[in-house]
Amino acid sequence: MILKSAPELWFDPVPWIDGKSCSGTNAIPVCNPATGELIALAERADEKLLNLAIEGAVKAFAPWSNASAVLRGGILKLVATLILEDRDRLARLLTLEQGKPYAQALGEVQYAASFFQWFGEEARRVYGRIAPHADSGREYWIEKGPAGVAGLITPWNFPLAQGAKKIAAALAAGCTAVWKPAERTPLIALAMGPLLREAGLPDGVLQIVPAPGRLTGRVFADHRSIRVLSLTGSTATGSDLMVEAARGIKRVSLELGGNAPFIVLPDADIELAAEHLVRLKLFVSGQVCVTANRVFVPSSIESTLVDAVAEKILAARVGNGLWEGIDAGPLIHAQACQGVDGCVDSAIRQGAQVVCRNQSYLSDASLQQASFYPPTVLRRVQDDMSVACDEVFGPVIPILTYEKVPEAIRRANATPYGLAAYVYGRDLSLCRAVASSLQVGIVGVNEWRPLTAEIPFGGVKASGIGAEGGEEGLHEFLSTRVISMPKPSPGSSDPISP
Ligand code: NAD
Repeated sequence: MILKSAPELWFDPVPWIDGKSCSGTNAIPVCNPATGELIALAERADEKLLNLAIEGAVKAFAPWSNASAVLRGGILKLVATLILEDRDRLARLLTLEQGKPYAQALGEVQYAASFFQWFGEEARRVYGRIAPHADSGREYWIEKGPAGVAGLITPWNFPLAQGAKKIAAALAAGCTAVWKPAERTPLIALAMGPLLREAGLPDGVLQIVPAPGRLTGRVFADHRSIRVLSLTGSTATGSDLMVEAARGIKRVSLELGGNAPFIVLPDADIELAAEHLVRLKLFVSGQVCVTANRVFVPSSIESTLVDAVAEKILAARVGNGLWEGIDAGPLIHAQACQGVDGCVDSAIRQGAQVVCRNQSYLSDASLQQASFYPPTVLRRVQDDMSVACDEVFGPVIPILTYEKVPEAIRRANATPYGLAAYVYGRDLSLCRAVASSLQVGIVGVNEWRPLTAEIPFGGVKASGIGAEGGEEGLHEFLSTRVISMPKPSPGSSDPISP
């Protein structure tokens, strides 16, 4: 039954500042969400320590930003290699701390490495350009350079990959950074300290400091040397951070919440749509910004889709992520279960119907203290129920029906969010037209996970500002300088003069 054993901690669970472990001020318990057991007491930073970390990053900025892009990129690519070499141990730690099944944790570790690889390569492709001047004796040199010290704040659902996306881009651009991971999942972040050092990253270039969110936002915003604030988190947190950032006119890069529509077109391959929908909803137990929150299906094929989805949900294995063959793990904590349950209960009171619930984990005594939520399929859901209009972070599939495709598009767009969407159909021209009408940052057509390091990923509307991945991810950490220069004079020794 047990696939993997829990790893022993091989690093101190304390802030990582200037290339070494430092004592924090108070300790936070980190528990395994699948069993409720204490894994470690992780020390966190107070205001003084946060400022110390920022000062260390300020000191490291000049040598790092002046180092050649080839050297910076080489270190980042080595980080990718070291992550992959240690992937089994990192994935087990990730499962232990976050709860996701081992196979998904391994996928996250590899995904994180891919960002170090990608931005390690992109580091050497930061180009300037020369533009013409109205005065024929002059020209404009347009240069790109690191924006300054960056403050990076990440959530608990992809505690390694969300950090990797930001760190790799910031460091490739020549910025130094202070990374504040989520307080629920500080361990996988702190595991990166010794690994970065082994890759040759100079001390101070990346500081890793678990700390309270609101305090960090204020300290980052108030420090004059922090020039970029990059957050992945909820829309409410993004809004709070923007207010803080406004005081110091800091650049913000925000990857926020979503409420993705999953549109099944009338000619869709229902088996494929059902299979992908279930994989998407069980992925990290639905605690994903791009998970499908509203499934729009033509009323004529609703029953067929519902049956196919219910069969797959009931066949899924829900349990401890370190066990073999697990499809879905627990939610991050008990309050998260209560939150999801509140939305489901309210939908039922308003007329939604429970098609099925997978409570297979209830039979296992070792999971009784854990925060599991049963994968649930709901039909007869209406647009204004909170299970459809709020971002529900859990394995709940709300099915809504529509009559005509333009109606599905209109309702899919009727949300403040604009992160991801999914379109399933056989007529690819129609799929393409529907995808182009959706107000989101990314659309998967007959694909449930269209994310990779090579493409820019970011939301529109209340889902964020800016992008991660692709060449765009690097630009979040670059600033532009224009120099108006006299053109060099050819002089008498000019070899091309007649
Ligand atoms: P959260 O907003 O509660 O916390 C995210 C991070 O922000 C944590 O490190 C937290 O400590 C910190 N924080 C909290 N308040 C802060 C403040 N006032 N100032 C500065 N930092 C603050 O989110 P969460 O519950 O950890 O994560 C889930 C949310 O993240 C969901 O809304 C999800 O959609 C979103 N998310 C978005 C993406 C994306 O790429 N768009 C990816 C993953 C998660």
